[in-house]
Amino acid sequence: MTFIETRGNDGQKPSEVTFSEAILSPSASFGGLYVPKQLPSLDFDFFKAHTESHYKDLCKALFEKFDVDINEADLNAALDRYDAFDDPENPVPLVGVENDAFVSELWHGPTRAFKDMALQPFGYILSKLAKKRGEKYLIMAATSGDTGPATLETFKNAASVKVACLYPDGGTSDVQRLQMVTEDAPNEKVIGIRGNFDDAQTALKNLLASESFKKRLAQSHTKLSAANSVNFGRIIFQIIYHLHSYLQLVKKGAISMGEPVYLVVPSGNFGNALGGYYAKKMGLPVEKILIASNINNVLSDLINKGEYDLTCKSLIQTTSPAMDILKSSNVERVLYDKFGPERTKELMDDLNEKGRYTLSPEELSMLREDFDATYSSDEEGKAVIAQYAEKGYIMDPHTATCFKAYETLRKKSLKTVIYSTAEWTKFSPTVCEALGHKAERDLDALQWVSEHYHVPVPRMIAELFEKPIVHTTVVDKDRIEEEILSFI
Ligand SMILES: *Cc1c(COP(=O)(O)O)cnc(C)c1O
Repeated sequence: MTFIETRGNDGQKPSEVTFSEAILSPSASFGGLYVPKQLPSLDFDFFKAHTESHYKDLCKALFEKFDVDINEADLNAALDRYDAFDDPENPVPLVGVENDAFVSELWHGPTRAFKDMALQPFGYILSKLAKKRGEKYLIMAATSGDTGPATLETFKNAASVKVACLYPDGGTSDVQRLQMVTEDAPNEKVIGIRGNFDDAQTALKNLLASESFKKRLAQSHTKLSAANSVNFGRIIFQIIYHLHSYLQLVKKGAISMGEPVYLVVPSGNFGNALGGYYAKKMGLPVEKILIASNINNVLSDLINKGEYDLTCKSLIQTTSPAMDILKSSNVERVLYDKFGPERTKELMDDLNEKGRYTLSPEELSMLREDFDATYSSDEEGKAVIAQYAEKGYIMDPHTATCFKAYETLRKKSLKTVIYSTAEWTKFSPTVCEALGHKAERDLDALQWVSEHYHVPVPRMIAELFEKPIVHTTVVDKDRIEEEILSFI
């Protein structure tokens, strides 16, 4: 399998690359992304053969279909990262919450958010590739809370990779900050920025584009790479759990093989939803993918009206911060898949130059063949949290955005998989408030919810409050470059 570019080729970069090349240098011509040249197809026999498969075996079967340049030993070692999940045999449990709705919990990994699903094995693969090539990489991440901890966790003590992680000081929850500043590994540097998440992200983008910064890195034989969700090395791991959730429904007897289901995905950068789209295209029986957003509703405007318009929007902070995103990177891969490279380049150029693009009515109906979308407010989310807590199911605010999609978008009475992307413990003050108790700090909120609703706080969250703080650097934006270079 080779990978080609969403915006076509510029004559400078290779027009086709291998999987490992797409992982190490994820940016393609004209600022585009890499996509598989042709998606493999999965037939009835494939699904039948894997109804009882363990998660890792399903992963291996999918990798075989993709036929990428990762050898078996490396893939096996990468998949062993799932051994650190709560249940290594089933890292993604499926929990029934209604007769026809099942929550697929993607947060049973070390940092309690769904980023671990892909970043854990991906981190192993990237570090291994770098080591084999004798190259050193700097991975930079700007985080509002989930990507940072998951990136630090996957690369800690990794060979040939260093990580610099920027977070807005005061702009994350206590748990998220502690997950970063207590991470004790000599190859990782965590830097607090005086400013908000946008400032951290802008600082990161400026550095990534800076020739002088790259030159100075080159002096210490270090290349830049990215571990964000535009990296196809992450996307491939995000296809698997969609297959797995479907097969679990079959195994439970909730559906028969071949019966279509709805998938509800709480979306920001659209990596999770893209995994579902690819799974559907490859042959998973999916009726539609229902996209849930918060009030930063660019995705629902695109899918309902065919308009992606940033000119009339500014980022609003919500209680589901991992979905506070206006430029949703992975949408581009769907545009490419449906409309081809020339049209994708045209649309993305419009977005960059005019801040907006509009699909034709035909294009919009093509998009709506696979997707439907809605969004909900923080208040609606809290009501959902309270409603399900009464029934004995505690969920985080990102997961809560899915329930409006589940209730309002289904045209047929089909079984539905709702993806839960974070454990409630990562957003405990919001959950606590939704349940009628105001707690200022995460520690109070964790204790209160745990006691009143009889849900455990996992060891890796409870321990954070005892661990020594390793990273104390907090700087102004103009000091970031120096901090990173002196760390390198
Ligand atoms: C990253 C994240 C999302 C958004 O996922 P995308 O793949 O970027 O759409 C949703 N919820 C949580 C908790 C996340 O960490």
